[in-house]
Order: sequence, then C-alpha cells, then structure tokens
Amino acid sequence: MTDPLPMLARLAQTPAAPFREADVARALLLLLDSAGIPWTRDPFGNVLARVQRGAPHQALAMVAHLDHPAFEVTAVNHSGVIGKLLGGVRIEALPAGTPLRMMTGGWWQPASLLAADPDAQPGAVTLHIDAPAGAKAGDWGVWEMPDYAEDGALLRMRACDDLAGCASILAALMDAAAGDWPVDLTAVFTRAEEAGLVGATLVAQQGLLPHDTMVISVESSRQLPGALQGAGPVIRVGDVRSTFHPAAEAVLQAASGSLREADPAWKAQRQLMSGGTCEATAFAQFGYRVTGLALPLGNYHNVPDAVYDSTPLPPEGPAVAPEYIHRDDLLGAARLLGQTARSAAGPLPDTAKARLEALADEYRDRLQASAGG
Ligand SMILES: [Zn+2]
Repeated sequence: MTDPLPMLARLAQTPAAPFREADVARALLLLLDSAGIPWTRDPFGNVLARVQRGAPHQALAMVAHLDHPAFEVTAVNHSGVIGKLLGGVRIEALPAGTPLRMMTGGWWQPASLLAADPDAQPGAVTLHIDAPAGAKAGDWGVWEMPDYAEDGALLRMRACDDLAGCASILAALMDAAAGDWPVDLTAVFTRAEEAGLVGATLVAQQGLLPHDTMVISVESSRQLPGALQGAGPVIRVGDVRSTFHPAAEAVLQAASGSLREADPAWKAQRQLMSGGTCEATAFAQFGYRVTGLALPLGNYHNVPDAVYDSTPLPPEGPAVAPEYIHRDDLLGAARLLGQTARSAAGPLPDTAKARLEALADEYRDRLQASAGG
C-alpha cells in the first residue's frame, strides 16, 4: 500500500484557507505528477484526477477538500486591521493574544489577535488583528501552530480536516494506478468546503462526474461515542444534515469485509457522524449515490475538545490548538479506500437483498398457509 504519511506531511507544509488553496493545490499537483496520474482543474480550481482502466462494475469518486478554517483581512482603517473568520471556529477558542501567521507582502509573517467579536450575522466573527506593517485588505492568515507533528500514535496538525482525507485518497489513487484490475476512480480535491461545500457543489452542478458514479466523501470528523480514535476509519452513514445511500455504503462494507477476511486484526467502525456536514451532502442533492469515510478527529476546527465537551477549561484559556488524528485510522482509511477501488471492479458479493430473499423463499409457503390467521 502507498504510505499516506509522507504525502500528508508534504501537504501540511502549505497552509490554506477557503478561497486560498493555491499553495496546497500546487503541492498536490506535484504529487500527482510524480505518480504519473493525469489531472484536470475545473473553471473554479477544483482538481480532478482519474485512473481509468478496463470496464469495472462501478465507477467511483473519492472527494476531499483542500481548505481549512482561517481568516482574511477585510479592512485596514482608523480602528486598525479588521479581519473576518472563514469557516466555523468557536469564538471561545480565540482569546486576545492568540498567535497568528499572516500572508502579508508575499511572505508569512507573525501577527496576533487583539480581539474576536461576534457579528450581527449569526456565526460570523470579526477579528481585530495586531498585524505586520503593510497589511492590507485581501491579506489572509492562519493560527500559528506546528504544521505537522508525529506524537506517538497521534498526528497533530493545523489541518487534519481535510488533508488527511486528501492524503488517504492520494494513496488509494496511486495504488489503483499501479494495479492491473479494472478501475474507474476519480479523486476530487475541492476548494472552499469550509465556506459551505462550495467547491463540491460546483463540481456536482457541472455534472463533471457521470451520474452513475458513487461518491465517497473522505473527512476528518469530530470523534463521538461509537467513533473513537484508534478503532479504525468510520464508515459514515450520514452527517448532521442528511443520511447517505445504502448502495454506496455497501461498496465500502464489501471492501471492509474482504480486508477482515484476509486479516482478522482489521478494524473499522460505522457511525452517523453528526458533528458536522461533509461533501457527500452536496453530491446527494444532485442525485448521486453517496457515502462517507471519516477519521475520528480531536480538537475539531482547532477548537480544544474541552470547549465542545463543556468540561472545565484549562486556566491558560482554551486557545486554538492543533487538530489530531490516530495514525492507525489514517492508514486504515487509505487501506479501505484502496480495497474499495478493487472491490468495485466486479459485482458485490452476497447483498443484503439476496439474503432476505432467500429467507422469504424459505418461509413463503408457511406464511401463505397461515395467512388467514
Ligand atoms: Zn471542516
């Protein structure tokens, strides 16, 4: 299996924000080029990379996003440098003094937060920034923290969401490219997910994927009871907005089943991940059969777990912190996606419908004989 870790570390070196994905996209395209995988970009900058060979039973798409919550400067005036939060970060995690990294004058420069104020618009947050000289409207930035660190079994990063999804899809795509079985796998790397599934919606709206494609969204999503770190990737039956498609889930289940057959230590979970939305929801609105794969995530959107759990906060305050995932869950996600691309080559074995119909056949006569009471 292609190792997703070095690719994750590489992507993590290029901070991104909604609408500011150019650097991370460039790193992604270099990885695709180095593996000889062809790619295109749609008019909105979403990246589509496709491995197609033979006549597989089912065409698949795997979707992840390149952006992560961050901020942009909206005005520089008599009251200072004013910014706007891009993406959902709880205001409790943005105390005065929060260190920032700002792209100003073409360079990353240190900055810090003076204050974060709730806006009249629900969820919107205005930031007052102690910015480097020369800051201007249109500059942008991220929270200052390590881009990527391996800490025992944990990977701590600013943006597990969704670079871990991108890296596990890349690994599956590279495995598919190196294989010899029938496959039609499109990896879709989108922009501006954190602004409201924008890139994914535009890909779906343009019909860039054939309509019989099954779409698998791959995301880090807040860990929940029943979706725990280190217990394997989570087959995601839905998100906070909608439930997904059983036929699409069946492809993931079949792949997970064949991994378990070959390796009794194989671990995967199955859960409704209601901690947020994911891009499967956008594709579902346009008639695609969708499902999801999630990596249980700590410090979701850089907000310390304690803020969500309403446990007592540390005295130094709940400032933004790196997200973290379990290394085994990432490796498991890459493995499961790789196997899913293989399993889609032929028809699915022994579906639930076949089992139900066999039972119905067995008991049909008995039910008919006793139909009258
Ligand atoms: Zn997110």
